[in-house]
Amino acid sequence: MNLHELKKIVLREAVESFARVDEISERNTLKVLEAMRRLKISDAHFKTSTGYAYGDIGREKLDELFAQIFFAEAALVRTQFVSGTHALATALFGVLRPNDELVSLTGAPYDTLQTVIGHAHEARGSLKEFGVTYRELPLVNGKVDIGAIKNFVTAKTKLALIQRSRGYSLREPLTVADIEKICAAVKSANPNCATLVDNCYGEFVESREPVEVGADIAAGSLIKNIGGGLAPTGGYIVGRKDLVELASFRLTAPGMGNELGASLGTPRLLYQGLFVAPHVTAQSLKAAIFAAGIFSRLGYKTHPLPDDVRGDIIQAIELKSATRLIKFCQAIQKFSPVDSFATPEPWDMPGYADKVIMAAGTFVQGASIELSADAPLREPFTVFLQGGLTFEHAAIAILGAAQVLQST
Ligand SMILES: *Cc1c(COP(=O)(O)O)cnc(C)c1O
Repeated sequence: MNLHELKKIVLREAVESFARVDEISERNTLKVLEAMRRLKISDAHFKTSTGYAYGDIGREKLDELFAQIFFAEAALVRTQFVSGTHALATALFGVLRPNDELVSLTGAPYDTLQTVIGHAHEARGSLKEFGVTYRELPLVNGKVDIGAIKNFVTAKTKLALIQRSRGYSLREPLTVADIEKICAAVKSANPNCATLVDNCYGEFVESREPVEVGADIAAGSLIKNIGGGLAPTGGYIVGRKDLVELASFRLTAPGMGNELGASLGTPRLLYQGLFVAPHVTAQSLKAAIFAAGIFSRLGYKTHPLPDDVRGDIIQAIELKSATRLIKFCQAIQKFSPVDSFATPEPWDMPGYADKVIMAAGTFVQGASIELSADAPLREPFTVFLQGGLTFEHAAIAILGAAQVLQST
């Protein structure tokens, strides 16, 4: 079948899924807009600050804004977080003390967090070096073993880590309803055990967020969903006031907390990025649905399937050969607005067992809310595609990749 015909079929089949995405985007846009109006966001909040930046109203308002949108008591939104891993590590190191026990309820965490925890492999400066103990509840058929939580979380467990997104695995992402059940199970096992959600790639995929269904604290990256493609860098932590405060002491220093930290660049991009984030997340969800539609019709296994309910913006496609995987990533790069002339190659990335190939022709370096594709070179040669600031661009690139594979 020619790709033009295929595109038409896939778009026709996606009508209901797209409508569901639009509905959520509209609700989240309203949520953001109402919070902005309630907090009287104005031009005064977009000013650059320098030095200690005491009394930076732009920084303070942005914290309030995130807190309201996430139905949280407090928020810490900072470009001083260098990435999502840094925000999550700050929350972990902020809350945990020597001899405390941390557990992961969603199997092995995202690669970079394994380094932070330090139990899968030795890592200098890790939580393990500070005497934090760690256990992992294995997934059962790719799902959280909710029934096992009551025995797994004990009186000794201080913090339970829950990863919302599939990350770069083939397990299903959690829905917010799943997170609600998991948090309830933790609290019934030990009411004093706090829950931390790795919210990366999950923001605005649904109309509710983890803290409003019982998570104590959540963290993520500003160069994924919630930055709307405009945030130049940064991360956030939202949740219970006492826990966010502990994290703030770790980000700056005990006693200083959230009261200083200059904006340097313009905070406007964080506000504006947040404002467009529901829409941009919807664009990337449509891109994922479209890619699933095209590639499943071309005979590839996709996770999720085109019309599955989605919990994150990642689309995994099993390409079944290293050649196809490499060609796919190279095609995505070629159809990128930035560095379209570069040819990605598999390389030995620190912390990964297999070679990894990455396509990212993005305006913000490494921003995976922009259209990007990554893959470790191993069976079944699955590519992880995510992002897309505009559906039009994503569709062009996805069809471009399909074209290349058809002639391979
Ligand atoms: C992206 C991501 C992170 C953090 O990665 P950074 O590159 O440091 O922002 C953590 N967990 C998950 C599931 C992620 O997708």
